[in-house]
Amino acid sequence: MQVLLTQEQIRDRISAMAGEIARDYPPDEQIHLVCVLKGGFMFLSDLVRALPTRVTLDFIALSSYGKGTKSSGEVRMIKDVDHALEGRHVVIVEDIVDTGLTLHYLQDILRARSPKTLRTACLLSKPSRRQVDVPVEYVGFTIEDHFIVGYGLDYDERYRELPYLAILRDGE
Ligand code: 5GP
Repeated sequence: MQVLLTQEQIRDRISAMAGEIARDYPPDEQIHLVCVLKGGFMFLSDLVRALPTRVTLDFIALSSYGKGTKSSGEVRMIKDVDHALEGRHVVIVEDIVDTGLTLHYLQDILRARSPKTLRTACLLSKPSRRQVDVPVEYVGFTIEDHFIVGYGLDYDERYRELPYLAILRDGE
């Protein structure tokens, strides 16, 4: 495996992203972060610690690639959020946007619940793979078409614990 982004590079970028997010909301208003499990957990935990703003948290789980590295294009909700989103400043916290299908589905569902604002923070984006145009207000790193593991991202449930991002193999 080849290291794509080191712990230090990730930490510096997340700290800058936290600044961008904080600047976009009135300081006295709470941000409600909705983390997409499981891949987003490490990004969320570093992002909340870098944010100067008060936040509340919730979690949602969607089906992803399953065992392979190819997207089926099918999205399924495995676990819904626990709290209502109405009137809240919601920020989706997602590990990676690839084809955009997962995020497109998720944004539609959450938008229907009348949040005050809805934005998305993705640690990684692979624009060359996009099939649907989804708005992502905060992007950590724009990358080429590689299959990435580490820092929360898995291949068949492995490698999530790595503190850095690595290329498992080149995209096909
Ligand atoms: P999309 O629906 O945008 O094609 O894919 C989104 C989901 O697919 C991500 O949340 C992630 O779970 C998974 N995914 C996409 N690209 C990668 C990758 O390079 N590595 C890993 N581990 N998962 C990926």
